[in-house]
Amino acid sequence: MSFTVAKFGGTSVADYPSMLRCAQIVQNNPSIRLVVVSACAGVTNRLAEIADKQGKQTESLRNEIYTIHASIQQKLKSSGALELSLSQLHDELESHCQKAIANWAAWRDELLSFGERCSSLLFSCVLNEQGLLSDTLDARQLLKTNSAFGRAQPDEVSTKSHCLEQKQKLDSGCVWVTQGFIGSDDKTQTTTLGRGGSDYSAALLAAGFNATDLQIWTDVAGIYTTDPRICSSARAIAEMSFSEAAELATFGAKILHPSSLAPAIKNSIRVFIGSSQNAAAGGTYISANPTTRPDVRAVALRRNQTLVTVHSLSMLHASGFLARLFEILARYNVSVDLVTTSEVSIALTLDEGGSIANGQALLPAAALEELEQFCRVEIETGLSLVAIIGNGIGRDAHISQLTFNTVNDYAVRLICQGASEHNLCFLVEDSEGENVIRTLHDRILS
Ligand code: ADP
Ligand code: ASP
Ligand code: MG
Repeated sequence: MSFTVAKFGGTSVADYPSMLRCAQIVQNNPSIRLVVVSACAGVTNRLAEIADKQGKQTESLRNEIYTIHASIQQKLKSSGALELSLSQLHDELESHCQKAIANWAAWRDELLSFGERCSSLLFSCVLNEQGLLSDTLDARQLLKTNSAFGRAQPDEVSTKSHCLEQKQKLDSGCVWVTQGFIGSDDKTQTTTLGRGGSDYSAALLAAGFNATDLQIWTDVAGIYTTDPRICSSARAIAEMSFSEAAELATFGAKILHPSSLAPAIKNSIRVFIGSSQNAAAGGTYISANPTTRPDVRAVALRRNQTLVTVHSLSMLHASGFLARLFEILARYNVSVDLVTTSEVSIALTLDEGGSIANGQALLPAAALEELEQFCRVEIETGLSLVAIIGNGIGRDAHISQLTFNTVNDYAVRLICQGASEHNLCFLVEDSEGENVIRTLHDRILS
């Protein structure tokens, strides 16, 4: 029997009309038994601002959040019980902002959780009003993580056993609505999976409940050949493989959280991405065996890259240098994306998303100090990573030629190709990133 988990992103649940469109999708598909929602659009950003200000003098931000929620609540006819639950959550948020902060990162995650807790409550009421039996489930009792606040790592085994304990509920004919993005650690403290983490939550919960299908409903009708906001000629892709989609997500396509496909791949869950604003427009099916595997599928842009170049003459004909460098980076939990080497230097890129935990610098000062004991370190910021994703990159001389012709027109800081036939990446100035994407898209995908 098919069992679908449906995830609705922030713009999909931004306001009452948007929530109604999502409710229609749920109504039309009885296999949807678990719904995962993001916070209403704009709410998490405001909560993050409140966190930066440690809750002080943030009344206007809090009021803006209450207004977003109240505008949905007011559209619901039987809103008495909802009004009470929502105002309890808002009161809790008020007192959380007044609390003395012992551990800012833990306090921040608890604060960020209010967005999803409010939107899930509201969406469940919308479903009820549309005649569906619906209730909420607290994701913190399902999705278990470590205590790395702000970027918690899920514990898939523990999550699965918590999900299976509640599995009976899902067989009861009720549509359960839960929160994306949030979980809890072994001390039941609230954690978050990192920005955009609701896709990941939905995939983890789909795996936890042994779902057959995962639907990600967003504001575009599937995965496009590039971000349609950057390039108006981008086209929706009807189907693609897990590895192509994972590469795209990793290399910056915001449409999917980079980790979200791993649980789906491991558990053979079919994935569909579509637009909640226009469900009839279709979308992208992601599977292990798509019928087509073109040489080039898409191009992606990842902004805010940092390039670290280390130089050392002692590298010349020496062994063990790379091991020493990476041992230091690993000890400081620095995540490296691209690497290129020459005889006396190594260049690597660091991504904000990969390494920043709890607001620490990308390359912690202590790590830099250790590196400087045996090499000269140069750090450049303000760069963008351009990635060409496909199945035969490097095999097709024509594509290489078109790519290098494009690259010729720009100052390229680093090129990486060869580790996999699925991608070719290079770094350009942030200010040129979008132009490079448009030019490349025109030349190799139009
Ligand atoms: P949600 O709030 O539903 O999670 P996101 O804003 O996180 O939505 O992701 C959807 C956005 O991803 C789109 O509006 C689009 O601008 C962007 N995007 C980036 N790359 C792609 C791509 N290759 N295909 C489609 N959308 C993309
Ligand atoms: N609400 C969270 C965010 O804005 C998680 C998500 O939407 O995926 O980052
Ligand atoms: Mg998203």
